[in-house]
Amino acid sequence: MNKNLKMLKNGMKMKIPRKKKTKIPLTITNTQEQNIIVKVNIAGFNGLSEALKRLDFRSAVHDGRRFHYICKLLDLLVSHRLNALSGCAQRVLFNIIEEVARQVSQSQQNKHMLDRLLGQLRQVVEFACWGRPLGSTILWEQHLNTINRIHEIADRIEIRPPSDNKEPQFEQLPEECVREVLLRLADHQDLERSAHAWGVMARLVDELRIWRELCQFHFSPRQIQSVIDNSPNTSEDWQLIYHKLRKCYGLREEYAEMIQLCRNCRCLFWHSIGHPCIADTDPNFMEKLEDVDKSSLYVPIPPQAFLKFFSL
Ligand SMILES: [Zn+2]
Repeated sequence: MNKNLKMLKNGMKMKIPRKKKTKIPLTITNTQEQNIIVKVNIAGFNGLSEALKRLDFRSAVHDGRRFHYICKLLDLLVSHRLNALSGCAQRVLFNIIEEVARQVSQSQQNKHMLDRLLGQLRQVVEFACWGRPLGSTILWEQHLNTINRIHEIADRIEIRPPSDNKEPQFEQLPEECVREVLLRLADHQDLERSAHAWGVMARLVDELRIWRELCQFHFSPRQIQSVIDNSPNTSEDWQLIYHKLRKCYGLREEYAEMIQLCRNCRCLFWHSIGHPCIADTDPNFMEKLEDVDKSSLYVPIPPQAFLKFFSL
């Protein structure tokens, strides 16, 4: 197999089909109000470290559906909010990153995400070396030990190609199948890397359809139309339209699974695991819910919103 194709095995963002949106009558309207509501109403959590432990983020790292959500959360915490965390939360955070390193090592996937976290950790260590360590000296030594362990795991990771006698190899796939793979990538950087990896993919990535469907995945018809109207010369150049849209509106953030907030009992939970809900045990509560749209009871919580629950 082409050497560049092996490199692509590190992991790519795949498109997740757009779900039909239901209108959620949220009472939360702004950040400040949201923080207050959450502090009062989130059931059972006193702080971020407890939430991360009770939602079992360490084990969840090994679930492919939850991996990207957790990595985004770690990214936000390490890059911007580390100094705002308690010593306990910092320890939990570093332990989860160690688990991410183990998962990447075992699965041979998403090494670029681990590399990004390691780069941010390096900056944290350098910053601490300039006279402002995080928390107490003993605590910081413990963090350094964990960070060193993470680096050791990362250094030992070697992406292994599939054995040569395994068939079919990627390069043996018919062009239609390769196109279907490219149509499922959700990120322009992955498309560009694919084009560099193999001539057939380079030719397919030039097709208008790939970029048009990428635009339709990330942006609404109204957004697309407004960019086309504002730059009439780009009407057929979907790659250019995509980049204009990306700069204008930002890319859509999608995860296979997100933390959910139950509006009945104000509980945070993983959708695939569920939670013991007050609505299931209290007949009076069930009565009140008779006329309520059941699909609006659980609110998906993106990583940024999750951190706001803890004033981060
Ligand atoms: Zn509930």
